[in-house]
Amino acid sequence: MHNFKKSLGQNFLRDESVLNRIINEFDVTENSLILEVGAGDGALTKKLLTKKTDVISFEIDTSLKQYLDIINSEKLRVVYEDFLKINLNNYVNSYNNIYFVSNVPYYITTPIINKLIDDKVIPNIMILMVQKELGKRLSAKEHTSDYGAISVLLNYYFDIYYLFDVKRDSFYPIPNVDSGIIKLVKKEKTIPLKDYNLFKKIVFDSFKQKRKNLKNNLKNYDLEKIQDILKKYNLNLTNRAEDLNYEVFVDMANNL
Ligand code: SAM
Repeated sequence: MHNFKKSLGQNFLRDESVLNRIINEFDVTENSLILEVGAGDGALTKKLLTKKTDVISFEIDTSLKQYLDIINSEKLRVVYEDFLKINLNNYVNSYNNIYFVSNVPYYITTPIINKLIDDKVIPNIMILMVQKELGKRLSAKEHTSDYGAISVLLNYYFDIYYLFDVKRDSFYPIPNVDSGIIKLVKKEKTIPLKDYNLFKKIVFDSFKQKRKNLKNNLKNYDLEKIQDILKKYNLNLTNRAEDLNYEVFVDMANNL
């Protein structure tokens, strides 16, 4: 029996119908790679292999090797490393299409997503089991209280959908948080962005104090220029960051 490590977010999915719903959410194309973070004992990994394309699964806990070694497939490579520390480009470079499908360890969901974006690995589709609250935030639209910096950054690359809730007893051990599945679909076209890091900085600064308006949060920037940009969208400095869609932030980043 595996010694479950709470500190590594080890809640293994035991619900066959949830696993099947995840798998039915995407189809792979030629020369594709499916990436998974957190193989666990392989419940989702085995399902991913039914897509008959290469699967690379990262797992930090080597004590799970006994369960993963018996999965018999030439398409599978399990890498026993901390996903946040690997050089992702070394693994994905030879593939045209990347799919990222994982029941991720919740304590590092946002760092995992940030790593993909920072490493410029933008999958065609991502299907993620996440903590429900975070799932709502990541998929939030403007003018809602869930909308925040991370929703904006993801909206630049993806259309994001909250698919469905997953019951706590779908996992073993049963977690003490609610879960849900989100789907991120890469946008066919992205607006050219001169400097992603500046975009990220402006977005985070704009949401720094959520209840404050842009004039307050962006007082270290050229406010006159920002005012001119906002005007094009019928907005002004008294608006809050939650009123702006990602395109306005891109415009600011490209013109400041
Ligand atoms: N995929 C399995 C499933 O659905 O049942 C397991 C999911 S479990 C929520 C998350 C897994 O991520 C655990 O097996 C844990 O050991 C692994 N993990 C935690 N931190 C990790 C990291 N930094 N890099 C790679 N794997 C990690």
